[in-house]
Amino acid sequence: MKKHNFSAGPCILPQSVLQKASEAILNFNNLDLSLVEISHRSKDFVDVMENARSLSLELLGLQNKGYKALFLQGGASLEFLMVAYNLLEKKAAYLNTGTWANKAIKEAKLFGELIEVASSKDYNFNYIPKNYSIPSDVDYFHCTSNNTIFGTQINHFLKTDVVKVCDMSSDIFSRQMDFSQFDLIYAGAQKNMGPAGTTLVIVKEEILGKVSRTIPSMLDYRVHIGKDSMFNTPAVFPVYVSMLTLEWLKGLGGISAIEKINNQKATLLYSEIDRNPLFKGFVTDKEDRSKMNATFNLTNDSFSETFNNLWKEAGINGLKGHRSVGGYRASMYNALPLESVQVLVDVMKELERKA
Ligand SMILES: *Cc1c(COP(=O)(O)O)cnc(C)c1O
Repeated sequence: MKKHNFSAGPCILPQSVLQKASEAILNFNNLDLSLVEISHRSKDFVDVMENARSLSLELLGLQNKGYKALFLQGGASLEFLMVAYNLLEKKAAYLNTGTWANKAIKEAKLFGELIEVASSKDYNFNYIPKNYSIPSDVDYFHCTSNNTIFGTQINHFLKTDVVKVCDMSSDIFSRQMDFSQFDLIYAGAQKNMGPAGTTLVIVKEEILGKVSRTIPSMLDYRVHIGKDSMFNTPAVFPVYVSMLTLEWLKGLGGISAIEKINNQKATLLYSEIDRNPLFKGFVTDKEDRSKMNATFNLTNDSFSETFNNLWKEAGINGLKGHRSVGGYRASMYNALPLESVQVLVDVMKELERKA
């Protein structure tokens, strides 16, 4: 039986998607060829790429609004520098909410002046800073919508007239919002969309072409847009699986439908964390709690061996917290069923009975 997979990333994907993906590895579209051994310029694959790109925009409600969707390589980590390469002329403003934001800041510093508008480093990133403002003279503002490691999520995005960039690697397609407030969104596929190896970039074309530096072709968003995301050989398998996941999501009723389920999962788990005296949430302000990655600790570490054995016996995988936080992290991405969260909650209750 399949495990209850709470892995933070690479993470759980819908079983039906994995089934179709494995069939395509052997025989894609009845071509009597594998998906991974045909030309990426063949009509069969070009259709996959076009479908993946248009589904991304459709699900986010960004069609016909001047945005282009790209499936690039190099992970979200390459976007940390590509964003700056393409947009940073003099100054940029960054919100520092954890490890990933920090890495984005480090790369952008290579290209210009960085203003850290706020940081939650003082409490090991267990909250989202609220009282800050975005300077009006910066080339762009960058934030991280969901902090995968610390388990915080931004619920109120500040309004601003400057270009707004968001790393949505770990919560894209998980909740409804006005995505058109952003000019550039990027997300590594392996958290909520597909296997590692491709990164979705959604960019408003009008913000490009404004920096004076020469941009190498592979790092230039305009080059990738000009070639319909096929400037070089794309990561065909990750793009295909991402397309299948997006089709699955559309079939469920899109982001608003999955958001309802994600809310149920988060409510179920956080209620137990709050109720059960053996557990304590890591994030101080409840409104900052991530619905994707719930971080929590035991109130008494002497129960850790018993707890670890209980969840492993229950068929749970991937519950260990990141080394910079410790404790536990339950990642509840789109494909994780509500039943898996119930299994975890039952284990937490069982520990309470045993303690
Ligand atoms: C995982 C993650 C990244 C890094 O993604 P890679 O694809 O491994 O480069 C960046 N940002 C966030 C928010 C993440 O969760």
